[in-house]
Amino acid sequence: MSGNEVHITSGMQEYIDKNNKYLAERAEYIEKTVKKWKFDTIAVHGLYSVTDALKDYQGSIIEPIFMSTSQAYTDSDEMAAALAYKIPTWCYSRIANPSTYYYEWTLALLEGYGFDGATSCCSTSSGMAAIMTAVQPFLQVLTKAVEPRNFVATAQCYGGTFQQFTVRLMQERNIECRWVRDATNLDEWASKIDKNTRFLYGELPSNPQLGFFDIEAVADLAHSHNLPLICDSTVATPALLRPICHGADIVVQSVTKSLTSSGFGICGAVIARKNLVTNIDDDTLKEDFSLAIKYMQNRDFGPNLHPLQAVMTLNDMRTIRSKMDLMSRNTEKVAEYLASHPGIESVQYLGLKSHPLHELAARYMWLVDSEFDDQYQRPINRYGHLMSFCVKGGVEKTRKFFDNLQRIWRATDLGRIKSVATIPAISTHQQQGEEGRALAGIPANMVRLCVGAEHPTDIIADLDQALHAAKGA
Ligand SMILES: *Cc1c(COP(=O)(O)O)cnc(C)c1O
Repeated sequence: MSGNEVHITSGMQEYIDKNNKYLAERAEYIEKTVKKWKFDTIAVHGLYSVTDALKDYQGSIIEPIFMSTSQAYTDSDEMAAALAYKIPTWCYSRIANPSTYYYEWTLALLEGYGFDGATSCCSTSSGMAAIMTAVQPFLQVLTKAVEPRNFVATAQCYGGTFQQFTVRLMQERNIECRWVRDATNLDEWASKIDKNTRFLYGELPSNPQLGFFDIEAVADLAHSHNLPLICDSTVATPALLRPICHGADIVVQSVTKSLTSSGFGICGAVIARKNLVTNIDDDTLKEDFSLAIKYMQNRDFGPNLHPLQAVMTLNDMRTIRSKMDLMSRNTEKVAEYLASHPGIESVQYLGLKSHPLHELAARYMWLVDSEFDDQYQRPINRYGHLMSFCVKGGVEKTRKFFDNLQRIWRATDLGRIKSVATIPAISTHQQQGEEGRALAGIPANMVRLCVGAEHPTDIIADLDQALHAAKGA
């Protein structure tokens, strides 16, 4: 994996044999134990076991935070084997670290829950770093001459993604991003693919417009052209949607958001299925994409996650299923309230039956394991806690309403245990300008609201008084 062939001495071979035994035991533990667990058990424990704790971590019941930059080796044979990636190693914390290792495994297992193949994960310092490091390997120059390269992506996407694709890739590197305006139109996707296309990219549900598309159909289209489908599934989290189970090759997560609902810090992840589809002739990438980018590309770029952040996020992720259930139910109530309020022009929430994409989303968005939940005992649709709505009366009334919110925080954030609202046109989607916002469908009177775990009647009361105040404006 280091990119160079290394001469293996007999001393190195001893370490390799010893570690192969460990890797075989771990693979068996994953297959025979962890993969048999329900989602909640994986979220709580991940790969961190009593055996690990007693053997290596003084019995600590919580994954330890390893702040050390690097690992010391017994001798030069062990060092040589480790740095050639012939044995698992924590060589240097930019490349690997025990705390981020547990974070990566939890996310790989949660995104791969219900998938009958294997998944792996590469942690990153942010969601933007996850997107950058996931698309980068597909955009490499394959011949000596710089050939035309393009990719196809949903125009309804996070503002930062829009900037990364238009400014960093299109303007600065002359790599064409072909925007799909109507992601539910398969012909539009198909018409944008040609021999220079490297991947398809889709965000769903999209932030903030709640765009959605038929993952299976788009994945089939991608694969029929020997291309991978990359999905940004931040808004859903693996508790509600796991695109890899529906044919996607790679998932990027802004783990910062609902997965770290406490709001303690920024982090990201790239989760990929093994043996993915690509027209790039590189077996390392195909076999284990996440590990390939982790050990090679990201070693060289350095967008690594801090171990303290990894463990704080692990703590948040343990209860992700029940939190997404509660916050989705709260959001449904708030959406229904807003939909019937005379001061509101329109409400975008996939859980509303009136939403044009409701039926499509209902095919994909399920509360994981609700059939095993005493409370439900059957499959239950849940649509997450992000919604947006447009206030009647234009920008001025919208701002007046927004400025009068008391309980709901005004912040460019989402995914929190506390309700947070923003006006995308002046915040998250400000940089992309009028034209970019029109393309993505973001009017100036749109408010994005992410409902938290408060009692929904208190959130509704806050919205009610703010709408009342705006009416008088
Ligand atoms: C926030 C967000 C990102 C970027 O993630 P950061 O962790 O803020 O870098 C990407 N995609 C979506 C859908 C987001 O909401």
